[in-house]
Amino acid sequence: MDRQQEFVLRTIEERDIRFVRLWFADVLGGLKSVAIAPAELEGAFAEGIGFDGSSIEGLARVSEADMIARPDPSTFQVLPWRGDPRSGGVARMFCDVLTPDGEPAMADSRNVLKRVLSRAAEKGFTFYTHPEIEFYLFEGSPADSVGDGRRPGVAVHPPVPVDTMGYFDNVPGGAGQDFRRDAISMLEAMGISVEFSHHEAGPGQNEIDLRYADALTTADNIVTFRTVVKEVALQHGAFASFMPKPLADQPGSGMHTHLSLFEGDRNAFHEPGAQYELSTTARQFIAGLLRHAKETSLVTSQFVNSYKRLWGGSEAPSDIAWGHNNRSGLVRVPRYKPGKAQSARVEYRGIDSAANPYLALAVLLAAGLKGVEEGYELPDEAEDDVTRLTSSERRAMGIEQLPASLDHAIALTEASELVAETLGESMFEFVLRNKRAEWVDYRAQVTPFELQRFLPWL
Ligand code: GLN
Ligand code: MG
Ligand code: MG
Ligand code: MG
Repeated sequence: MDRQQEFVLRTIEERDIRFVRLWFADVLGGLKSVAIAPAELEGAFAEGIGFDGSSIEGLARVSEADMIARPDPSTFQVLPWRGDPRSGGVARMFCDVLTPDGEPAMADSRNVLKRVLSRAAEKGFTFYTHPEIEFYLFEGSPADSVGDGRRPGVAVHPPVPVDTMGYFDNVPGGAGQDFRRDAISMLEAMGISVEFSHHEAGPGQNEIDLRYADALTTADNIVTFRTVVKEVALQHGAFASFMPKPLADQPGSGMHTHLSLFEGDRNAFHEPGAQYELSTTARQFIAGLLRHAKETSLVTSQFVNSYKRLWGGSEAPSDIAWGHNNRSGLVRVPRYKPGKAQSARVEYRGIDSAANPYLALAVLLAAGLKGVEEGYELPDEAEDDVTRLTSSERRAMGIEQLPASLDHAIALTEASELVAETLGESMFEFVLRNKRAEWVDYRAQVTPFELQRFLPWL
C-alpha cells in the first residue's frame, strides 16, 4: 500500500467514517456512486470493486458488462453534509474505471482526460484551468414545474427563481447570499478553493468561480461542485439547476473556462513584450480552439437545450472569433495585469454548466495542442461586438459560427477526426449514440410554441 492509501485508511479511523462512496462519471458527466464499508477499502485499492457497467449510460456494452472501479486516494474527502455523530461520517473518492483485465476502460471520461493530459505532458506541458460556474436557484423542487414521473399529466411550467435580482446585486439577507456563503464554506471544507462569487444577471442566477488547478482536479472539482450546490440548495428549501437555458427570456448558465499551459513553473502563454503579452504558443493554442470549435461543440455544449443558450444572446457566444477583452466571441484574452505572468490565460466561453467536464477539457486541450503542434496561424482579432455583424460582414471577415442545434453539432462531430481520436473509438460511439437518441426524442415533440402559434389559425 502506498502512503496516500495509508493516509486514507488512517483518516477513516480517526474521523469515524462508516461509508466510503466511490464516485465516477457516466458519458454525460452525471455522477455515479457506490458506497462501500471501510473494511473493503484495502481490497478496493488493490483490485478495485466490480460492478455491472452495462447498466450505466455509455460505460460498457452488454457483452463487456463487468467493470471495475478503483479509487484514487488523492481525491479522498469527507462529505461535510453527511456528518452525523450517531451514524458516523461519509467520505468519497473518485475512481478510475477499469476492464476486468485491469486496463483503463475506454469509455471512462476521467481516463479520456488523463490520456490527453499525458500527451500534453510528453510535450512538457501541464494544463491549468479554472471555471466560472453559473447556475439558477429556483423555489421548491423540479417536480413543481415538470412533475416527477410518478404523477403523470402535471402541467409543465417554467421554474420560479428565488429572487428578482440581477448582475452583482447585493441582496442583504437574500436567499442567494446566504446560499452562496453556505455553499462556499462546504466547498472549502472539501478542499475546493473559491476565488469569486456573485449574483449573475438572471433572477435567481448565481456564479461561483473556482481557483485554478490542473485540469483533472478541475474536472473532479466541477463534478463535486454540482453535488455540493444541489445539497446546499436543498438545505435552503430551494433547488439548483445547471441546465444551460432554463428560462427562455433570461440568460443561460455558461461555464466559461480559463485555460493555460505551463512548462514547469513557467506560464507558456506569457511572453513579455509580445502583443497582449501573449506567446506564440498561446496564439497557436487559440487558433486550435477556434479552428476546431464547430466539431468540439457537441462535447462542450452537449444538450438540445445548450443551443438555446448559445443562440439566446446575453453574452453567450455563437461567433467563432477571439478578442482582447472582448466578451462577444468564443475566446476572450483577458487584459494582462502587469507583473502577473502566472495569470496570462485565455477564456473559452462556448462551454455550459451542464457539460461533462472531463470530456470538455479533453477536447479543448486536444484542439489547442493541435494548433501548437501544427503551428496554426491565429486569425485577426475581433475588435467590436461580433454579435452585431450582418452575415455578409461576417463572411467578409471570415468569421464562422457555432452549430445552431444539437442536430447540426452531431453532424459536425461525426466527421471529426480530432474528436474521434481524443475520445477514443468507444467513447466517440457512445457520445454520438446518446446524442442522436436525444435529438430523435426532441424532434418528435409538438411544443407549446407550436400549439400557441399555429393552433389558432392553421
Ligand atoms: N450567462 C452568460 C453565458 O451563458 C455569461 C454572462 C457573463 O458572465 N458575462 O455565457
Ligand atoms: Mg464571471
Ligand atoms: Mg458570469
Ligand atoms: Mg467570463
